[in-house]
Amino acid sequence: MNYRGRFAPSPTGHLHFGSLVAAVGSWLCARHAGGQWLLRVEDIDPPREMPGSAESILGALPAFGLVADAPPLFQSRRRDAYDAAFEQLKAAGLVFPCWCSRNDLAGGLHLDGQCLAAPVEARAPAWRLRVPDVDIAFVDSLQGPQTQNLRLAAGDFVIRRVEGYYAYQLACVVDDAFQGITQVVRGNDLLDSTPRQIFLQRCLDLPTPAYLHLPLALDGEGRKLSKSERAHPVDPTHPAPALRRALDFLDLPARQDTNDPAALLEHALAHFSPERLPHCSERAAA
Ligand code: GLU
Repeated sequence: MNYRGRFAPSPTGHLHFGSLVAAVGSWLCARHAGGQWLLRVEDIDPPREMPGSAESILGALPAFGLVADAPPLFQSRRRDAYDAAFEQLKAAGLVFPCWCSRNDLAGGLHLDGQCLAAPVEARAPAWRLRVPDVDIAFVDSLQGPQTQNLRLAAGDFVIRRVEGYYAYQLACVVDDAFQGITQVVRGNDLLDSTPRQIFLQRCLDLPTPAYLHLPLALDGEGRKLSKSERAHPVDPTHPAPALRRALDFLDLPARQDTNDPAALLEHALAHFSPERLPHCSERAAA
């Protein structure tokens, strides 16, 4: 099977260091395998999005030498596919409507596999997936063997929200299959989402790709970089410094004799193999 990787940013801001690392890491894995590298804009959560962010991120990537093999897929245009997946789950009896408020949930009105809150005629419910007491195991290509008890870790998780938006987990699984992704390379903050995604793939009869979770970039105080004030955007008009830092973060050599992003990436690619990536779950960004 031909390798297909992807970079799937949420348009909640400009490209920042953590997302540049995910973009570079997924690009290197795809190019090393002689495969394709695809883009997906995860614009399914309008309240969290920043106007102009998708254009900003998509415009910045080529400036860093990261050129995709196909036009980007926009999740905002994929509603029909998510509706179809949702109907499939519903027909199989795998989802249930939930009218709980957050307070209800804290008070235990919600039990496994059903919602005890009274339906509220005036508003639509959220829809939850019925999660059995199951251990989901997989081998992450970098982080090694993983096991998660899905009921304990996630419970009956929401796949369609009260507002009618589909949850990231559902959209991600439907689109990884649609784009024919064979390996997901992304930041380690999504490692604990992976069992939910594997379970959804099984429910929907979709293939499970391989997974590789890159170390998460932390700031000097040990906070996730994207959540801290250091999440300032990387500068696509002067790409070399941030690109060198991203390569360094991934333990790859960064040429000092050129500022050409394509040349920096090609040199790193020549020294790259996935086994040589740093085997840690997080590390400080330089
Ligand atoms: N859209 C997610 C993010 O920007 C990444 C999703 C994924 O790679 O599966 O954090």
